[in-house]
Amino acid sequence: LTYAAAADRYENVPYRRSGNSGLDLPAFSFGLWQKFGTDYAFATQREIILHAFDLGITHFDNADRYGPPHRAAQKTFGAVLAKDLAPYRDELILSTKAGNPIGPSPYLTGGSRKSILTSLEHSLRDLGTDYVDIFYHHRPDLSTPLEESVGALVSAVQQGKALYIGISNYLPDRTHEAVELLRQAGVPLLIHQARYSIYDRRPEQNGLLDTAHQDGFGLIVYSPLAQGLLTDKYLETIPAGARAQNSTFLSPEVIDETYRQRTSELNKIAAARGQSLAQLALQWVLRRPEVTSALIGASSTEQLDHNIAALDFPALTDEELALIEEHGVH
Ligand code: NDP
Repeated sequence: LTYAAAADRYENVPYRRSGNSGLDLPAFSFGLWQKFGTDYAFATQREIILHAFDLGITHFDNADRYGPPHRAAQKTFGAVLAKDLAPYRDELILSTKAGNPIGPSPYLTGGSRKSILTSLEHSLRDLGTDYVDIFYHHRPDLSTPLEESVGALVSAVQQGKALYIGISNYLPDRTHEAVELLRQAGVPLLIHQARYSIYDRRPEQNGLLDTAHQDGFGLIVYSPLAQGLLTDKYLETIPAGARAQNSTFLSPEVIDETYRQRTSELNKIAAARGQSLAQLALQWVLRRPEVTSALIGASSTEQLDHNIAALDFPALTDEELALIEEHGVH
């Protein structure tokens, strides 16, 4: 069947400016970390990707590492791009990342110029595109001079293979150093990708949110639902097919009595607002102006519909935020 994008796709999610740049991203971006490898049906994966685009989610996040096996998720996206989304390439913000290990070779990991630019070549091939919109260094590599890693990212832009540069999982000090180096090279840092949710406050505690404000880059926050822990699905049991059951990245051991107590308190705050915990958790990350986009995953189109409805609810009040603080923090 030939795909035609929904005519009303730009009426669903707001778009937010990334830092001091000129680029707007959807309040919700979609990531292909889990369930987009060869272990799930392509038809479902395609349906979810196209549904996201129909909802106005223009930004799709990938990495050479996502699968299984590594590189498979971007091949999945590449297949959908070739089959359905090619006419819309100019309306898409595609990102990928280099630097997490994808093989035993020393040139398939880390922050060397060799690794970063080799990874980008692989990713462009997998995605079937000449350029990505955002190219990230996936994690800091303290054994490589920052000048070398940043220099490789700058080269990607100069070669026309990336429009913007991002970094991920960098702590504030190294982030600031990267900002300075990139500025000197005339390629400002667009965005930082960091984990942030009611259950992970590090960007508040370590000063990353302040650095984003001061240095003028945006934040795109990953796992805003703590991989599904900030939904009501694990309150009673671990449902079949859920990530805590089938991914090595979310251990069922975290779903203990303490987790259930905290989460059911948060669930009550959401219920009092007439919404779900997932919706509350997403509104919570987006309450911060430094956060450009909440980077979500989904294993069904229903989850996507449900989650983007978060912004139909009124903003969280100071009283509600205080209650969340009381129950959400360890
Ligand atoms: P989330 O915290 O949004 O978790 C998404 C998962 O939660 C879904 O796949 C689904 O899992 C479950 N879920 C979502 N909505 C609902 C709902 N309404 N009800 C019940 N369950 C729901 O984000 P992710 O952890 O998936 O991360 C998002 C993206 O962030 C990744 O795809 C990747 O692009 C990026 N990322 C970046 C990292 C980095 O180092 N830079 C690291 C990790 C992620 P299920 O149904 O399978 O249980």
